[in-house]
Amino acid sequence: MLKGKVAIVTGSTSGIGLGIARALADDGADIMLNGFGDAAQIEAARTDIARRGVRVDYHGADMTKPAEIADLIGQTATRLGTPAILVNNAGIQHVAPIEDFPTERWDAIIAINLSSAFHTMHHALPHMKKAGWGRVINIASAHGLVASAQKSAYVAAKHGIVGLTKAAALETAQTGITVNAICPGWVLTALVQKQIDARAAAAGIPEAQAKRELLAEKQPSIEFVTPEQLGALAVFLCSDAASQIRGVAYAVDGGWTAQ
Ligand code: NAD
Repeated sequence: MLKGKVAIVTGSTSGIGLGIARALADDGADIMLNGFGDAAQIEAARTDIARRGVRVDYHGADMTKPAEIADLIGQTATRLGTPAILVNNAGIQHVAPIEDFPTERWDAIIAINLSSAFHTMHHALPHMKKAGWGRVINIASAHGLVASAQKSAYVAAKHGIVGLTKAAALETAQTGITVNAICPGWVLTALVQKQIDARAAAAGIPEAQAKRELLAEKQPSIEFVTPEQLGALAVFLCSDAASQIRGVAYAVDGGWTAQ
């Protein structure tokens, strides 16, 4: 279905972004990977995806740097062709009460989890408009719909990206470009493993118990969402069947936000 389409997935060197990149490649899309990590790990991800018979490239743009983001979009167009699918996925977390929250962490979370999606769209939408087709998928979070204590920057950024998704969907409503958000609940990635480790250390409990408690607190299914499930939804949002789904924030959260 996506053969000949070029997809940029920010933060795709691990976790959800890598899962989405694999799913888009399984469907035939050429992929521009992005994110941090050591060179060998990134090359392993690149060759693994390339084995699916698609073209795969990597650009190391730092999502806090608008000029590097502009270069990511420009280089994708030059090296792979018109960017048709944009998945804004790069993200970080920091957990602390507002009065202890380091200003530098606040700024980094807003830059990476929210502003980067403005910058990527700013540069990618003209390519999509010219081609008459595009798909933007913003990876928000259950925290784009509801809040948790001690995650002020993350909650603000994720609510912000849900709003940005709606505004961009309205601006593109009469084009072949759709803009939507996916709001995952807990997914077992590096970002969440850090929170599990912190919980286990603080309570002096085994990791398995910390995992169970983390899920039980928010996610009624008591099961993690998987990157593969999110990848399958991203592929669906790229389909013709999804062409009138615009400005939606899809919860994939084991019931978290139904409560
Ligand atoms: P992860 O830590 O496995 O992946 C984050 C990715 O972002 C990595 O590739 C990393 O290198 C990249 N990244 C970080 N800072 C960057 C920067 N400055 N420039 C470029 N790339 C950068 O985490 P994940 O859980 O896969 O998170 C991916 C997205 O999903 C994030 O936006 C996160 O908020 C969101 N999310 C995660 C969960 C979860 O439970 N894991 C739930 C909801 C939403």
